Amino acid sequence: MYDTSFLSWPFFEARHRELAEKLDTWAASRLIQIDHHDTDAACRKLVELLGEEGWLRLTAPGEGNEKLDLRSLALCRETLARYSGLADFSFAMQGLGAGPISLFGNDAQRAAWLPKTRTGKAIAAFALTEPASGSDVANIATTARREGDGYVLEGEKSWISNGGIADLYVVFARTGEAPGARGLSAFIVEGGNPGLIVAERIATIAPHPLARLQFKNCRVGADTMIGRPGDGFKIAMATLDVFRTTVGAAALGFARRALAETGKRTVSRELFGAPLSNLQMVQGHLADMALEIDAAALLVYRAAWAKDFGAARITREAAMAKLYATEAAQRVIDAAVQLHGGDGVRSSHPVEILYREIRALRIYEGASDVQKIIIARSVLAEMATV
Ligand SMILES: Cc1cc2nc3c(=O)[nH]c(=O)nc-3n(C[C@H](O)[C@H](O)[C@H](O)COP(=O)(O)OP(=O)(O)OC[C@H]3O[C@@H](n4cnc5c(N)ncnc54)[C@H](O)[C@@H]3O)c2cc1C
Repeated sequence: MYDTSFLSWPFFEARHRELAEKLDTWAASRLIQIDHHDTDAACRKLVELLGEEGWLRLTAPGEGNEKLDLRSLALCRETLARYSGLADFSFAMQGLGAGPISLFGNDAQRAAWLPKTRTGKAIAAFALTEPASGSDVANIATTARREGDGYVLEGEKSWISNGGIADLYVVFARTGEAPGARGLSAFIVEGGNPGLIVAERIATIAPHPLARLQFKNCRVGADTMIGRPGDGFKIAMATLDVFRTTVGAAALGFARRALAETGKRTVSRELFGAPLSNLQMVQGHLADMALEIDAAALLVYRAAWAKDFGAARITREAAMAKLYATEAAQRVIDAAVQLHGGDGVRSSHPVEILYREIRALRIYEGASDVQKIIIARSVLAEMATV
């Protein structure tokens, strides 16, 4: 039902093809058993299941010299997203939430948390955004004040995925080494910390656990700081560089599902005495959808491949992958809804669910407009060196 010919592209090795096939078989049989009515319970169950079955091992490196394999992460997100937005979300957040620890944590921090996030025994969250600083990260107002042998966090974070159900929050706060972006640090805050308050649960068009958090006299030990004082912005941006590519991969999964649903529908739906797919204008839509999907896949896996092959940063590649794949998926899914007629907007129809799921991906981990700025900056920097 899905085009898997892309797996023979030179970006992949035999182990990637094996992974994609195995996860696809597993997802097709196991994910339909999850009850999505209670979003928190569904996410807890999904993390447990993904952990038990070993898929979460890919979200963070394990012992020794093992490295994060971005192509595997992207393949997992693409595959899970084809079956369930919530399964993709649960998988992705284990990677993003634990990302600062897996990429920048010390041995003790890695040993304390990664075995738990990789097995689904701890749910992870990444707390960067605040009510007054989303795109403008350098404007973070949450503070971490040095006191005794630790820090005291005060402030507010909003739009935090897994907020309210996470065991582990990586929180970015101002420690004041320098103004703006250079005065931020990253801390590990446990879900049970009495100074961490879930002030509001946020409902969205595609339900996911999301919360606004308050930090009031939230005390943490100095050993919870990831990296050095003032490293917070660098840690956040480098983590997003890695995981941003996988947002593109999730969008790709949604788009592939939309095309598959549309293929089935247009072949089986009879209009004017023939299948809908016989109409050339419909074929034009199908061609556009397939083209956008392949272009998105090329950008996503180019970025993942570049990282896996040793690029220190993939800022431009990741921005291109996220921007193009999420915007293209929105167009593909919109065409899918259109070609389904009334059924396309029927509640809980697969394409109606996709229509709601895709929207936030164009906003979080850097809105599309912000990705354009990142790409333009890199183009201008290149020109300046010519
Ligand atoms: C479903 C969901 C899950 C999320 N999960 C997390 C999470 O786990 N952790 C976390 O820390 N945050 C999370 N966020 C927050 C997300 O990263 C922010 O919403 C995003 O960065 C945008 O910030 P904002 O909402 O404050 O919008 P604003 O910063 O107010 O931006 C609004 C709009 O302005 C435009 N814009 C912004 N900057 C520019 C610019 N420089 N040039 C041109 N146009 C611009 C864009 O269109 C943007 O969408 C999540 C958000 C959503 C919707």
